[in-house]
Parts: sequence; C-alpha cells; structure tokens
Amino acid sequence: MAQRVCIIGGGVVGLATAYALVRDGIDVTLVEARDALGSETSFANGGQLSYRYVTPLADAGVPWQALGWMLRGDSPLKLRPRLDPAQWRWMAAFIAACRTSVNRRNGAHLLRLALLSQTTLRIWREEDHLDGFEWRRNGKLVTFRSASHFAHARQRVADAVHQQVLGPNECTTLEPALAGVPFVGGIYTPDEEVADCHGFCLQLAARLRASGRCEFLLGRAVTAIEHADGAVHAINLGEQRVEVEHLVIAAGHRSVALALPGVRMPLYPLKGYSLTVPIDARHRAPELSITDYDRKVVYARIGEQLRVAAMVDIVGFDPAPDPRRLALIRRQAMETFPMAGDYDRAVEWAGMRPATPSGVPLIGASPYRNLWLNLGHGALGFTLACGSGRLLSEMIRQRTPSIDLQGLTPRAA
Ligand SMILES: Cc1cc2nc3c(=O)[nH]c(=O)nc-3n(C[C@H](O)[C@H](O)[C@H](O)COP(=O)(O)OP(=O)(O)OC[C@H]3O[C@@H](n4cnc5c(N)ncnc54)[C@H](O)[C@@H]3O)c2cc1C
Repeated sequence: MAQRVCIIGGGVVGLATAYALVRDGIDVTLVEARDALGSETSFANGGQLSYRYVTPLADAGVPWQALGWMLRGDSPLKLRPRLDPAQWRWMAAFIAACRTSVNRRNGAHLLRLALLSQTTLRIWREEDHLDGFEWRRNGKLVTFRSASHFAHARQRVADAVHQQVLGPNECTTLEPALAGVPFVGGIYTPDEEVADCHGFCLQLAARLRASGRCEFLLGRAVTAIEHADGAVHAINLGEQRVEVEHLVIAAGHRSVALALPGVRMPLYPLKGYSLTVPIDARHRAPELSITDYDRKVVYARIGEQLRVAAMVDIVGFDPAPDPRRLALIRRQAMETFPMAGDYDRAVEWAGMRPATPSGVPLIGASPYRNLWLNLGHGALGFTLACGSGRLLSEMIRQRTPSIDLQGLTPRAA
C-alpha cells in the first residue's frame, strides 16, 4: 500500500486530495509553484457549492446561442479564435459534447460526484470540526428574465423533491433583495451551500500542517517529471530532484504543461471574472445564492461580502483581466442589486477555469502505474473538490470507490 503521495498543485483540488489522503493515513508532500496556497483559480471564485446545478456548459443549443451572444456587446461569452490547435480541438470536442444524450450522461456523472462531495464536506465539517471558511446552507435561486428560458427550465426540473418552481412574487418573498428586478420566475434549491473557497483552502492547509503528515514545498514549480518503464520516479523542481512513490497532478489549467507521453489532458482555460463587494449595515445584499440565468451572472453572500462572478472567455492562456469585461459585470451587478454593497470598494479578480470539453473532470489512474490525475473541474472545482479528493484517495489505496466511477476516470476522456 502507498506510504507517501506527492501532489502537484495547492489549489482547492490538490488540497482536498491531500486532506483526504492524510485523513486516510497516507503521508503527503504537496508542491505549489506559488508562495501562497489557493491563490490561483481557487482564490476568488463564485463561492457556490452548487451540488444540484451541475449540468455541463456543453448543452444542446449552446453553439447557436453562442453565435448570437458574440454579436452582443454584453455577451457572457467571448471567443477570440487563435492559431492554436489546442483551442480548435477543444472547441470541436465541446460541440460534440453538446448533443442532448451526451449532455444528460455527463450531467449524471457530475451529479453523482457532486452529491459525494456534499456528503464528504459534511463529514469533514461534522467529524473534524473543519470550519472558518464562511460555510452556510443558504439555498440557491435561479431567476429568469425571459419567459421562454423559464418555460424551458421548468420542463427540465427532474427533481421535484429538491427543487421548487416559483413565480416572481414567491421569489421576492423568499429573497427581498430581488424586489424591482424584472424577472418572470425562478427555480429554488434549498439544499445548496456557499463558502469562501480561498478560506477553505487555508483551513485545509492549517489542518494538514497540524497533522504532521503533510510537507508543503511552496514557491517551487515542478519543471519536469522523470519516468521510465511505465512509472514515474521523480519530479524536478529546477535543480532539485525529489523522488516520488505516487504522484498526483492537480495543477489546474497548468496541468497540460506536465503531461507525459500517452497521458491525455483535454483541458483549455475558460477565463472568468469576479467582484468582491464589501457589505455593511446600510446594505441589502441577497442572502440566497442568486443565478441571473439570462445574463449568466452568479451572486453569493460570503460572510460580509457579496461575490459576483460571471463570464466565459475562450481567449487562450493569458490570465490578464480585461477591464471592459469587469466594467460590464460591475454595471450588471449595480443594476440588479444597487443596494447590495459598496461597489466603490469592490475588488476585481480574473481566474482560469481548468475545463474539459465535456465539463467532467479526470480523476484516477494514468497509463503510468503510480501517476494519478485530479484535474479539469472547470466551473465546478469548489463544488466537486471534496468528492474528487476522497475518490482519488480510495483509488490510490485500492479501496472500493464510494461511487460508480463510470465517466469520471481519465480513460473516459
Ligand atoms: C470566475 C470564476 C467563478 C467560479 N465560480 C465557482 C463556483 O461558484 N463554484 C465552484 O465550484 N467553482 C467555481 N469556479 C471554478 C473553480 O474556481 C475551479 O474549478 C477550481 O478553483 C480549480 O481548482 P484547482 O485546484 O484544480 O486549480 P487551481 O486553483 O488553479 O490550483 C492549481 C494550483 O497548481 C499550481 N501549479 C500549477 N502548475 C504547477 C507546477 N508546475 N508546479 C507546482 N504547482 C503548480 C498553481 O499555482 C495553482 O495554485 C469558478 C471559476 C472562476 C474562474
């Protein structure tokens, strides 16, 4: 059985994997290129633990809808075609994944993993008293401005036990901050949760340090992985060489730079943006997580801050924020919730979702017998991290996985 596992990547996925392994009695070395943990895509994401809203972005009608969006100045999607075969390959695979049958199948895989994640986080909170990251079960309300989008969404509510279709008055009663917003109805899911992803990363790291079983190598980028005879043997950190018994790649969208021959990583970064708006006693911020479906903007109250997140920009690997996109989010947020917080003091952020075309992450074994993947969580990395970490720990320890792995392993990619 494995004694020590080395993990590349100190985002929410790498840290949740480390936590699951240490909890299961395995020692861990975690290597992170940055000086601080959870400081890349896991830093200021939407904060939504959106367990029942895991339908992949690749859905029937999305390619046509996307063409329409691209003609608009306020489009939630921006595509900058590049002379980059990786971008074209990813988009072709994305379009193939938009078929209804494929979307439904992938949605089912994601739901299984999301519900495992929800259970796992509950166990970690209740048994280990993991806290300090603004976790709340606040419920999520998806609101619709367009009657046809609302009608379509109502038809797709498959889970009447966990989801309720509400008219506009019922929505406003539930969430008074919505008063005056021109929407026609909503779908409410009371079980959904919210938390601070960066705070969660820091809490996991603190517990890992306290366990005495996790060594952190911070500010150390893995530059190469040594392999021979179907196994990996060491990682290079510049001049330094560290031997490994088992190795996990959980390096978000940068994982592709670490791919070995024969290891498929169909990842592309989808850039998104957030605003973190301070709230004080004068403000009336929504308490529920709100998704403005037609604009594709999500709002979540995280402690005394409103997190506003939006946009999918397929523009290559450049992480630089686009000021026009940030200005658009700010305008839309101020129009929807003008009293929600102090927009003058809002902090802007951009991050790169590590996305597979299907929206389903790759969790599990690679063609190298001691190399494992935990990557490609796209728009749902916070939601799926705990379940993904637990599953990978079970696989590395050769235990029966908690859920059916169908569709989730790298072989399915
Ligand atoms: C605008 C926006 C909103 C979002 N909202 C939500 C949401 O509401 N709910 C949700 O569930 N998800 C959300 N997401 C998605 C979520 O943030 C990501 O899926 C998640 O953060 C990915 O985590 P990760 O650990 O895979 O990657 P990262 O957080 O990027 O971590 C990877 C780490 O690997 C390190 N690394 C990379 N290469 C190397 C190397 N060679 N050597 C050493 N270290 C390396 C990086 O420095 C980084 O710290 C959102 C994303 C965006 C952009």
